[in-house]
Amino acid sequence: MPYPTASAPQAPETIHTHLVEVSCDGGEGALGHPRVYLHMDETGRVECPYCDRLFILDGDGGH
Ligand SMILES: [Zn+2]
Repeated sequence: MPYPTASAPQAPETIHTHLVEVSCDGGEGALGHPRVYLHMDETGRVECPYCDRLFILDGDGGH
């Protein structure tokens, strides 16, 4: 039986980016929040304190 994902509470997204500074405004609807700028930490990850989105840095020399 499929989960009703459209109406379920949204799980935090994981967003891959090549930028070390990202901006997040929560995206659509109820999760929207004031735009914030987030810097990747030394592990190449940063989590939005508002909407819990996880941004992961895609390195250029990586896999
Ligand atoms: Zn956010």
